[in-house]
Amino acid sequence: MKALICGAGIAGLALAWHLERDGWDVELVERAPALRTGGYMIDFYGAGYEVTERMGLATRLRELRHPVRELDYVDRDGRRTSRFVLPPGFSRVVSLPRGDLARTLADDVVAPVRHGVTIETVRQDAHQVEVTLTDGTHRTVDLLVGADGVHSRVRELVFGPEERYLRHLGHHVAACVLTDPELSAQIGPRYRMLTVPGLMAGAYALPEDRLALLFLHREPDPALPADPAAALRRHYGDLGWILPETLPRLPADLYYDQVTQVRIGSWSRGRVVLLGDSCQAVSLFAGHGASMAVAAAWVLADELAAGDLPTALTRYEERMRPTIDEVQAFGRRFIEWMAPSSRRRIAARDWLLRLAALPGVNRLFLTSLTPGGHELITSRADRLTARKQRRTA
Ligand SMILES: Cc1cc2nc3c(=O)[nH]c(=O)nc-3n(C[C@H](O)[C@H](O)[C@H](O)COP(=O)(O)OP(=O)(O)OC[C@H]3O[C@@H](n4cnc5c(N)ncnc54)[C@H](O)[C@@H]3O)c2cc1C
Repeated sequence: MKALICGAGIAGLALAWHLERDGWDVELVERAPALRTGGYMIDFYGAGYEVTERMGLATRLRELRHPVRELDYVDRDGRRTSRFVLPPGFSRVVSLPRGDLARTLADDVVAPVRHGVTIETVRQDAHQVEVTLTDGTHRTVDLLVGADGVHSRVRELVFGPEERYLRHLGHHVAACVLTDPELSAQIGPRYRMLTVPGLMAGAYALPEDRLALLFLHREPDPALPADPAAALRRHYGDLGWILPETLPRLPADLYYDQVTQVRIGSWSRGRVVLLGDSCQAVSLFAGHGASMAVAAAWVLADELAAGDLPTALTRYEERMRPTIDEVQAFGRRFIEWMAPSSRRRIAARDWLLRLAALPGVNRLFLTSLTPGGHELITSRADRLTARKQRRTA
């Protein structure tokens, strides 16, 4: 069986890992000219992390992690207003750049990745899918997978324009990494955040004198500004803290997008299936998207190994969707905690964080931030173990 996967990101690479071990002939096309490295920081935990443990990749991910020991909120002068220290031994959250997770998956995949290419046209019948790529070549495959993120090209071609499926959550997000020895030492291995109503800026230090920055601001209009760096300077320019030093130096590869969830009535049409953010984006507010993408790849591969294609695609969606609904609902509830809209809510958040920091309550608090998904991967774990053994044999 032949599969073409559009998007060599977290979901696409994870699916390639499984399918090639199950004997599929797999190829990936990726719009970016090379594997996207670095990028923004993610906390990787929950069901997806458990899948990587079974894939034998968790040790490598733990080597690449940048442990965050504490979360602090600061005021405009950089003074701490509240603090949450992670309990000792709490090790099941792996904080690392999104690109390092992608690289770890890519290093263990042999399927070819065609970079700088996307899909031009798709035609399918009951037996096959005909795809034209932007480099002028054609493919005939049994399965086309749209693992090309929130603004999926496959979804647009097969299911319709993205306006139908994106649920804008009223915010824009930006992220980047700067090199600055002094600021990196000043921030240290803790996540420091400044919030005023409608605006949040966060920073934490990475090895080699680097500093990861995250910006989140209220913006009812989903349309992106023509100049994202200028928009950030306008929003955050007079907030104080480290912002006067960092805003003039935003790099060219600044990540900027609307914060959105994806809701789509059906995740497959014929022999075309969506995977990861293209059909199930839970948003930054849920903090769980990469984990859900890895878990979904496992579920899809599991169902494809179990039965015929139409049944597998139906079963994949039936198994994944309830968890995605749950995580998306969690993300919407979390907006007011991550980006409080008023001073009263900021004070309430600080008060809750102080309460959560109490011994005994802290683990409960962290558990409440892991919204579901464990049952997704418990059913047929033996098949995954067999796949891993086939590859190492
Ligand atoms: C700022 C931020 C912070 C986040 N924090 C967390 C976190 O803490 N924990 C967590 O689990 N998740 C987090 N996420 C979410 C997580 O990054 C995503 O859910 C996850 O990357 C989804 O994987 P994916 O493979 O579906 O999409 P992506 O990782 O976006 O990969 C899609 C791939 O498709 C490629 N592509 C796009 N368009 C095309 C095209 N037309 N043709 C070919 N290729 C294409 C892209 O270049 C990319 O390589 C965060 C997201 C953001 C934006």
